[in-house]
Amino acid sequence: MKRAAVIGGGIVGCHVALECSSRGYETYLLERHARLGQETSTRNSGVLHAGIYYARDSLKARLCVEGNALSRSFFQEHGIEFREAGKFIIARTDAECAEIERLYANAKANGARVEMTTPDKVRDRIPYIHCRAALFSPATAIIETAGYIECMKALLYRNGVTIVAPCTVRAVRGAACDTDRGEVEADIIVNCAGLYADEIANSCGLSGYEVRPLKGDYYATVGIECRVPVYPPPTAHLGTLGVHLTPTFGREVLLGPSETTAQAKDDYQIRTPKQEFSSSLESMVDTAAFSGIELYEGYSGNRPRVYYKGTRCQDFVIIKHPSHVVHLLGIESPGLTAAPAIARHLMTLV
Ligand SMILES: Cc1cc2nc3c(=O)[nH]c(=O)nc-3n(C[C@H](O)[C@H](O)[C@H](O)COP(=O)(O)OP(=O)(O)OC[C@H]3O[C@@H](n4cnc5c(N)ncnc54)[C@H](O)[C@@H]3O)c2cc1C
Repeated sequence: MKRAAVIGGGIVGCHVALECSSRGYETYLLERHARLGQETSTRNSGVLHAGIYYARDSLKARLCVEGNALSRSFFQEHGIEFREAGKFIIARTDAECAEIERLYANAKANGARVEMTTPDKVRDRIPYIHCRAALFSPATAIIETAGYIECMKALLYRNGVTIVAPCTVRAVRGAACDTDRGEVEADIIVNCAGLYADEIANSCGLSGYEVRPLKGDYYATVGIECRVPVYPPPTAHLGTLGVHLTPTFGREVLLGPSETTAQAKDDYQIRTPKQEFSSSLESMVDTAAFSGIELYEGYSGNRPRVYYKGTRCQDFVIIKHPSHVVHLLGIESPGLTAAPAIARHLMTLV
């Protein structure tokens, strides 16, 4: 029996390990924390994206659209909690109206379902939102990420995957992962180490890639009701999706993520001033309806932005080097959505 070693037990590593074991590999999943999914996979907005934003023909676009469909059937099959929330992208200025027209065309080209809608229709669903035009995405959903990871763990055990955690991979040398718990030899090795994937890549001679974390902080509130995620158009300068309102499975509404500097890959301290979240909220809602809304600190996640020789890679980077090792670099948003599609895609490479 051939053996697969998967480095990193985030949502991508979990799907990759499940796929390897389903295809007959004796599979080892090596995770440096005691539990799976403690880094970016549970420090995000928990949104199943539709594929609106990403450049046509990019891996992000293709794997997001495929991942959206695959995730839905996966969730239904395994009883993972998700909610068909839909999503509005709202435009408040002339420039934003032009931007959502562009997003509409881009989404259509990517095969993502979207509809132009009116401010009245937005207000029918969320009375306090003000905008001049909006895009509605019926294929967007919200996911309960902690439950998703727990379910993945159960499925991995059921499929016979050996989960070794905590276990830090120090380097890949030839056919072996050198770990703090000894060596694990394998016929194929998949590097799903997220923020640390550049270090693993470097250890097997794939140089030039550097992951630089871009922090996203969240605040939260129970002071407003919001059943549908509401996004501004993406921010121009750093290309993130902008501070948005996202409902959770409880009463809380999340506000975030911001864009700020992380002092280290594992810096999860909230560093964005509260004022930034209040201003974002005020730009989307009727302030009269919301005086005195209390915002409190939520959590923080770090986007694993990847650069090649100093230039940012806009797309996911999936590279085989050498022939038995596949590296996944820069799996930032929409990686939560794309995870099952990424796993299938990389099986075509090994
Ligand atoms: C603020 C924010 C918001 C986001 N919102 C969304 C969203 O709404 N929808 C969406 O689709 N995507 C979203 N994303 C992106 C999504 O969260 C990620 O693409 C996805 O979680 C990446 O999963 P992963 O398994 O690659 O990485 P991770 O979850 O980081 O997993 C990597 C794992 O590897 C382990 N590891 C690292 N180094 C080693 C080592 N040497 N040895 C052993 N183990 C190691 C880590 O401990 C970790 O568990 C968001 C991301 C951020 C930061």
